[in-house]
Amino acid sequence: MTWEKLKLILSIIYDLFFLLINIPWEIFKKFNPNKCKYKTGEQHEKDINEIAKTIANITKKNPNIEIVLDRQLGEGHSSRSTEYKKGKFRINISSLNSIIEINSKDKYVDVESLVTFEELCNETLKYNLLPCVIPEFKSITLGGAIQGIAIESSSFIYGSNGTIALVASARVQLIEATQWIHLKYIYYSKTSTFLESIQNTFDLRSHSTWIGDNQILDGIYFSNGNDNYNGIIAMSGGCVRSIPTKSSIYKENYFS
Ligand SMILES: Cc1cc2nc3c(=O)[nH]c(=O)nc-3n(C[C@H](O)[C@H](O)[C@H](O)COP(=O)(O)OP(=O)(O)OC[C@H]3O[C@@H](n4cnc5c(N)ncnc54)[C@H](O)[C@@H]3O)c2cc1C
Repeated sequence: MTWEKLKLILSIIYDLFFLLINIPWEIFKKFNPNKCKYKTGEQHEKDINEIAKTIANITKKNPNIEIVLDRQLGEGHSSRSTEYKKGKFRINISSLNSIIEINSKDKYVDVESLVTFEELCNETLKYNLLPCVIPEFKSITLGGAIQGIAIESSSFIYGSNGTIALVASARVQLIEATQWIHLKYIYYSKTSTFLESIQNTFDLRSHSTWIGDNQILDGIYFSNGNDNYNGIIAMSGGCVRSIPTKSSIYKENYFS
C-alpha cells in the first residue's frame, strides 16, 4: 500500500472517530438547545456598573495594574498563549451574556459582548434578520469579533475591526435575510482573472440586504507546487427567497 493510500485511510478513520464520539453531544444539544438570554437596559447598566466598580477599586489600589479578560485558554478562539495574562488583574465579565434589544423596525440589535454569533443569529433569524457580518465560527463572541478580525464573506461591504478597550456591548446593524443562500463556486486558474472578475461583478457600495447574487464573497487559494493545481476557488452568492427549480447547491443553515 502506498503512503498516500494509507494517509487517506487514516484520515477517514480519524474523521469517523470524531464523528462517533460527537454523537452523544449532538443528541444532547438537540434536546437542550442553546437558548440566548435577554436582559433589560437597566439590568445591563447595573452589570456594567459592577464591572466598572471592580476596575475602579483595583486601579485605585494599584494605578499601574494591567487588566485582562478572565477568559481561559479553550474558551475563545484566540491562538495566542495566555502567558501574557500572568500577574495581571483578570476581570470577570461573565454577566455580559445577553441580548438587550432586537429592533426589527430600525434593523439593529443591542447585544452584550459574551453572546456568541450562534446565539445572536438564532434570535435575529426569528425576525428574518442577520448581523451584516458573521464570522465563520459560530462560537466567536461579539466582543471577540470586534476586538479580533470580525471578517467574513460580506466584509467587503460591511467590514470593520477595532481595538477599543473592554467591549461591554455593541449595537449591531442587521440586514434582511432569507431561509436560503445560493452559493456559486468558480475556479480561476489565475489570480488576475479572479481579481478582474470581482472588479466587474461586485458592487462595493453599501447595501441593506444580502438578497440577490454577489452579496458575499470568499476565496481559497490552492497551491501544491504543481502548476496544474494552482488557482483560486471563489465562492459567491447571496440570500434567495425560494429555490429555483433548476437548483445548483442550496444551503439551509447559516453555520456548518
Ligand atoms: C481557526 C480560527 C478561525 C477563525 N475564523 C474567523 C472568521 O471566520 N472570521 C473572523 O472574523 N475571525 C475569525 N477568527 C479570529 C477570531 O474572530 C478572533 O480570534 C476573535 O478575537 C475570537 O473571539 P472570541 O470570542 O473567541 O474571544 P477570545 O478568543 O476569548 O478573545 C480574543 C481576543 O479578543 C479579546 N476580547 C474578547 N472579548 C473581549 C471584550 N468583550 N472586550 C475586550 N476584548 C475582548 C480578548 O482579550 C483576546 O485578546 C478565527 C480564529 C481561529 C483560531
